[in-house]
Formats: sequence, structure tokens, C-alpha cells
Amino acid sequence: MTFSDLGLSDKVLKAVAASGYKEPTPIQEKGIPHVLQRRDVLGIAQTGTGKTASFVLPMLSMLEKGRARARMPRTLILEPTRELAAQVHENFEKYGQNHKLSVALLIGGVSFEEQNKILDRGADVLIATPGRLLDHFERGRLLMTGVEILVIDEADRMLDMGFIPDIERIVKMVPFTRQTLFFSATMPPEIEKLSQQFLQNPVAVEVARASSTSTTIEQRAVACSTVDYEKRATLREIIDNAEGLKNAIIFCNRKRDIGTLWKSLDRHGYSVGALHGDMDQSNRSAILEAFKKNEIKILIASDVAARGLDIPDVSHVINFDVPFNAEDYVHRIGRTGRAGRKGASFTLVTPIEQKEFEAIESLIEQDIEWEGAPVEWDEGAGKKGRRGRGKAKAAKDGSGNGSEKKAAGRPKHDKKSGEEGSEPASKEAAKSSGKKDDKKKKDKASDEPKKNKKASKPKPAEIKDGTHAFGAEEFVPDFIKR
Ligand code: AMP
Repeated sequence: MTFSDLGLSDKVLKAVAASGYKEPTPIQEKGIPHVLQRRDVLGIAQTGTGKTASFVLPMLSMLEKGRARARMPRTLILEPTRELAAQVHENFEKYGQNHKLSVALLIGGVSFEEQNKILDRGADVLIATPGRLLDHFERGRLLMTGVEILVIDEADRMLDMGFIPDIERIVKMVPFTRQTLFFSATMPPEIEKLSQQFLQNPVAVEVARASSTSTTIEQRAVACSTVDYEKRATLREIIDNAEGLKNAIIFCNRKRDIGTLWKSLDRHGYSVGALHGDMDQSNRSAILEAFKKNEIKILIASDVAARGLDIPDVSHVINFDVPFNAEDYVHRIGRTGRAGRKGASFTLVTPIEQKEFEAIESLIEQDIEWEGAPVEWDEGAGKKGRRGRGKAKAAKDGSGNGSEKKAAGRPKHDKKSGEEGSEPASKEAAKSSGKKDDKKKKDKASDEPKKNKKASKPKPAEIKDGTHAFGAEEFVPDFIKR
């Protein structure tokens, strides 16, 4: 099958040829003809499968007929994060190089004025995050009655981020006669229900089993200690010994650890940047660009900040923590081994992460091979997991559970900060208790200079207002500040 068999316009085919793509990916092959026939499509596909082009290419072909009217976009694409929205925008620029379409990007962190100008001129394509779109709508800058095609991308992530009520509101504003394209990497029951609500007689296109991991990714688990500086030493060993490591994304479960890890790796001389939701848009873009250009080799990120980022040649993904949600594991390691390339992932596993680790193995229906000796599970703590009821109660009433703490043997601050201050926090994000860090005695730091140990203590004032101990500024490497 070639691209020219799919029914795409000549202009689009030219742009595809210029991109150097030899043949359509499975989601493109199966999806594009249906989109061109104006059918609703339910696409079950992970990022990295060529899913974006599977809707951008036919949309471009279809948009060649007709014209945009002021404030009345003809198509609307909803994305859960700014980066993902910006990426889709890049896709329209790349594949739409032979078109004269007007594409508006409505995302937070960008001035309303610029966005309004494009809307006023009339947008063929509107790419938006739900919050910013509703802002514009409420200010009377937008009419949704001209939308012919609605794309809801990364629906499962929209759910995780609490965007579903916004999406439901937006869908009500769009004409009933629209064509809807709905994409999700996984299909939990809530998403299935939504797809039934939004789609009419859809064609389901599934390119990989929901929640499966790509076969081109070599996955390894590495046993490590719960003691934070030992864990960081294990991480450095992985980085130093990983075969063919060109660049890597390291995922942390907690925002707090992103800062600590960034400082530590930077101090150890690694080329490292970090991405988290508290950073403003320009800092995030600068870090991402630096990583894409290989000026930064290692990017530390959270699930929310890194969601859907298209960085084509990441050689390694390292999970500094076993993700809380098994689905996040699939998304995280999907950053590597994209579009048929080879990739590798390492997951650091502590004795208390049995529950989360086993949930992943059961989701992906395969055992993850251990690099070295397997971890020895701490049955008491591990089975309950980090989100065990005992801990939730302890966090709520401050009582704690002695045996659990002992068994877990991890610093108290591990229970604290949650995900992404400026973006919807995960349900698990426990509020800081403000207790002192009890691991400081142990931290006779093989890897941290003394003055810095002070900095890593929780600071009640910062915790109180929810700001991060490491401000966004500190995530900007010197060469970018200059
Ligand atoms: P996506 O799943 O949309 O994030 O796309 C993942 C990557 O695959 C992007 O870098 C695309 O540029 C690339 N890609 C999309 N379609 C093709 C194709 N047919 N052949 C090769 N690479 C592609």
C-alpha cells in the first residue's frame, strides 16, 4: 500500500513525499480512507504510530474545498497539553506546506491578542487545549457553529487530566452534523462511554492492542534501594552503562524529584534539562528545543509535561519510579522505539513497588526482564503500594502506620508532593504534610555537596502555597538563559 492509494489530494501527497515517508503506517492505512469518506472514526492507537498524520492528512485534503469565515473555525482539534497542540500545529505546517490554510493554535501561555487576530481573519483549523478554547468562547471571540470536523485526541489523557467535563461542554457547542474523529491509546470504560456519546456509527481502527507496548522496545527492570541517593547512584549506573544511549528521557512520579534529580545529575556533569508543569511556556519550549537539537542529552520529565511529545529519536526511556498508573508506563516507554525504530527502557524498581510493577506486567501481558538480580519485594509495603489505603489514611489524619513506614524504609517526603502544579493534578497527588525530612541523617551524601542538603529539606513556606522548591528558573540551563 502506498500513500497514493489512500485517496489523498495531490497537494497532500507532494508534502508527504517531501517528508520522506515511504509508506503509510497501519493507522494511516486503515484510518485515512474512512476519514475521507466522512465517517466518524474511533482510533485506538498509541503516540508514535503516525496517528497525527492519520487525521491531519485527510483533513488537509478535505479542507481544500471551502473557505473559513471570521471567528467560525471549520475544524477543531482538541489536545490535552500545550506541547501536543503545538506539535499538531507543526504537523499542519509540515504537511500543509502546499496549502494556504489558516491554522490557529489556542493554548495557554500565549497571548490572547495574537490568537484573536488569527480567529478574526477566519481559521480553517483550530487546535486548542480545552481550557483556552472555553476562555475564548466565553469572551465571545469564537462561534463553533461552522465546525465540520471535530478531533478529540488523546482522550484517555483528557480523562486523567480532568478535562472530560470541558470536552462535553465543547462538544455540545459543535454542530451535531459534524464528523468526529476520536483517538485514545487505551480504552478504559469511561472512554468507551464517551466515544459512544460523541460518535455516530463510527469505524473502529485499532492498530495495536490497547495498552500494548511496541515490540521494538527492549524493556528492563533494575532493582534499587528506596534510599534516594542510592537510587540516584543506580540511575547514574544505568545511564553510564546503557548500550547505545544517545539521549534519554527520565520520568519521575513526583515534581519534587524532578528538581532534585536535575540538580544532582547536573552536578555530576551530565547534560541535563527538566520539564514540568510549573515552567512557563517559553522555558518549556526552550528546553524541548534544546533536547530535540541534542544540546541537552537527558530530559527529566513528569507524565503530564511529557505527554505526547514527539521527539523522534529518543534512544532510551528511564523510569526513575515505577509509574502509579500502569497505562503511564505504556505512554512513557512509547517515547522510544517510535515509528519502527529500536528503543530501550529501564525502570528502577524499589522493594515497595510490587503492586505497581505487577500491574504493569499484567497490563502489557508480559514479564519485564530484570537487568541483574530481581528486586526482593517487601511484602508488607509493596503489596499495599504507594497508594495503599493505610497511606491515604495516614496522609489524611496524620496518624501514619508505623510498620508500614518501617517496611517501606523510604524518606517521608516521598509521600508528599504530587504532579504538576499548573496543570490538573493526579488524584494521587497528596498534599504536603510539612514534616521534616527524616532521611537527612543518612544523606551523608556520597553524591551531594553539604550545602545542598539544606536546600533539599522541605521548606514549609513553599509547601504551603504549593510552589515548588525549585522554581522554573532553575530548570533553564545557562546557555539558554544567555
Ligand atoms: P505520531 O504518532 O503522530 O506522534 O507520529 C510519530 C512519528 O512518526 C512522527 O515523528 C512522524 O513524523 C512520523 N511518521 C508519521 N507517519 C509516518 C510514516 N508514514 N512513515 C514514517 N514516519 C512517519
